[in-house]
Amino acid sequence: MSETNFDFDLIVIGAGYGGFDAAKHASENGLSVAIIESRDMGGTCVNRGCVPSKALLAASGKVRELADAEHLSAFGIHAAPVRFERKKIAEHATNLVANIRSNLTKTLERAGVEILRGIGRFEGPQRIGLREANGVDRMVTAKDVIIATGSEPFVPPGIETDGRTVFTSDEAVNLEWLPRWIAIIGSGYIGLEFADVYTALGCEVTLIEALERVMPTFDPDIAKIAGRNLIQGRDIDAKSGVLASKVLPGCPVRIELSDMKTRDLIEELEVDAVLVATGRVPSSSGLNLESLGVKTNRGYIPIDDEMRVLVDGKPLPHLWAVGDVTGKLMLAHTAAAQGTVAVDNLLGKNRKIDYRSIPAATFTHPEISSVGLSEIEAKELAEKNKFELGIVRSYFKANSKALAELDSDGLMKLLFRKDNGEVLGAHIYGLHAADLIQEVANALARRLSVDDLAKEVHTHPTLSEVVEVAYKQASIQLQKPSKV
Ligand SMILES: Cc1cc2nc3c(=O)[nH]c(=O)nc-3n(C[C@H](O)[C@H](O)[C@H](O)COP(=O)(O)OP(=O)(O)OC[C@H]3O[C@@H](n4cnc5c(N)ncnc54)[C@H](O)[C@@H]3O)c2cc1C
Repeated sequence: MSETNFDFDLIVIGAGYGGFDAAKHASENGLSVAIIESRDMGGTCVNRGCVPSKALLAASGKVRELADAEHLSAFGIHAAPVRFERKKIAEHATNLVANIRSNLTKTLERAGVEILRGIGRFEGPQRIGLREANGVDRMVTAKDVIIATGSEPFVPPGIETDGRTVFTSDEAVNLEWLPRWIAIIGSGYIGLEFADVYTALGCEVTLIEALERVMPTFDPDIAKIAGRNLIQGRDIDAKSGVLASKVLPGCPVRIELSDMKTRDLIEELEVDAVLVATGRVPSSSGLNLESLGVKTNRGYIPIDDEMRVLVDGKPLPHLWAVGDVTGKLMLAHTAAAQGTVAVDNLLGKNRKIDYRSIPAATFTHPEISSVGLSEIEAKELAEKNKFELGIVRSYFKANSKALAELDSDGLMKLLFRKDNGEVLGAHIYGLHAADLIQEVANALARRLSVDDLAKEVHTHPTLSEVVEVAYKQASIQLQKPSKV
């Protein structure tokens, strides 16, 4: 029981990564905490996102590796034709989900967090209505409330889903069947990861992208080299500038494709299945936020850098929001970081979040990763703040470890200030890019200079030397102070 007249010091709505980290951190700091969850403990990441998708990628990645006779024979290895069981691969993912969900739930229980099952909504600033699955409705109160209700898949108008032949990532992670021919709508990270899984398991993929180029959210140079491998090099037919204007589930699934600009019908396809990977929308509509005066932006809850919910630009006391529902870098580790920052602030610790240093990764084979500014953003900043932008490229082809693996198609692009050497951003495609980016993210968080970073010794032979080479090249380009 809280020391005040409230039932709890803190109520967290939503037990995804954002809510989990917030609740655990608050409880560890002595607060009485309840967490409300309407669906599965662990939210999107554990049940329908990071965890099952990475399990599928791990298994299908092994199939890809063993089936690549040309690559293996270059090592002098000749394997028998690879066989796999779809059901066992799917079970690997569901077992992992169950395991991680159970561990996470136990962790919260051990930390003393009270888990309340049901749908939460606001009945006042510090008052939450809880509708339980059996229809019982009750009120719980807390001094502070953190909204961590996350997001759900966005299905554009014209597309009808049935969960079996036309589905989103929510169902794709179950890998219930392997369509011979699947169309994937959207070439963001979710579309690319599933294209990686499906092609490894022998499916033919048509990738449909509405914007002008495939992989529009990635650095153009990285997209070019990655696309050469991950799309052109595989059984994928990629179409860009094309809108899937109508999709009707069934056997076959019928798709109407229109020109994105003119909206004229250009092609009709009949495929076995469609995965809709067209982004995600915030889950905030049922929260009754209007009653608090909170105006969302297309469903996203406005917050300041301390995670306080804003009304007309001003923070509302005792109300916080974290994770996908805030629309900032919609990733599990962002949600978790925001969760602990919100709790530290409600404990009076005055913390902010540095979004620029949060890395992102796509777990294709090989991986893609990035941190910090894009080249366009860095150029704009350079113009505004009147400094010269430095750009260097470091190639995996020159890396002994990548060469030993016979997997040396890869590129790292580093963006930095030429006047003081500050790292502004990095974009990587290549073996273990998701691990490599962390080193740059840590440097970026500390606003370190490439001059200092270039002096740090890296293990040989490792892929981390790709990053070392980039730092060294960049440090040579630094503007030397003119001699007087
Ligand atoms: C296929 C896929 C792969 C992904 N891979 C990665 C990855 O590799 N790395 C990464 O960092 N991110 C990944 N993500 C993104 C990541 O899953 C999300 O960014 C993360 O889950 C957001 O966490 P969250 O806590 O904000 O919300 P969520 O995880 O969405 O959790 C919100 C929770 O709130 C509950 N809820 C909602 N409304 C209410 C209510 N009114 N009352 C009670 N409970 C409610 C929901 O049931 C849900 O459990 C992936 C996502 C997908 C879909």
